[in-house]
Amino acid sequence: MAVLPLCITGEPVLHSPAAEVGAVTDEVRALVTDMIETMKAAPGVGLAAPQVGVDARIFVYDWVDDSGERHSGTAIDPELLVSPPPLGDPDDEEDSEGCLSVPGERFPLRRSERALLRATDLDGRRYELEAHGWLARILQHEYDHLQGILYVDRLTHPHAKAALKAIKKQSWGSPGQSWLPGRDHLED
Ligand code: ZN
Repeated sequence: MAVLPLCITGEPVLHSPAAEVGAVTDEVRALVTDMIETMKAAPGVGLAAPQVGVDARIFVYDWVDDSGERHSGTAIDPELLVSPPPLGDPDDEEDSEGCLSVPGERFPLRRSERALLRATDLDGRRYELEAHGWLARILQHEYDHLQGILYVDRLTHPHAKAALKAIKKQSWGSPGQSWLPGRDHLED
């Protein structure tokens, strides 16, 4: 088990679609174990394989809702169906999103309220999960990672400009930058 370095925006693996996984091998299971450990150390509520530099369609998530119910799982070769995205401007607080590959920053983004995930689990079985609200948001965010899309790519005016400025200020946006949870401290 190991905490892995997290790629920061600009690393090419974050910006192109990830490869299909196929069979769930011991190698895949070992990667998922490390991804879960890294997600917890970060800490984050979701993590996709490209964020640890691996070109594979895998994400993990682990989130506790307001009622204390825990939602966690592994999605390999997922498909995601979403309800029509809402219209209008995002709410600065309710729609505030962050990403471990743009560490320490948050910007508001509207997301579809409902999502249906179809994916393979660690036992190689296909499953379905219906999600709404924040869990649906997490699934959309992580699924986007497998398409090579970061949430900052989806921001609308004026947040898109603010995100570009923040990324530039940190000198991110070019290859070769990462941070290691537990060692590097970042303000959130
Ligand atoms: Zn992210």
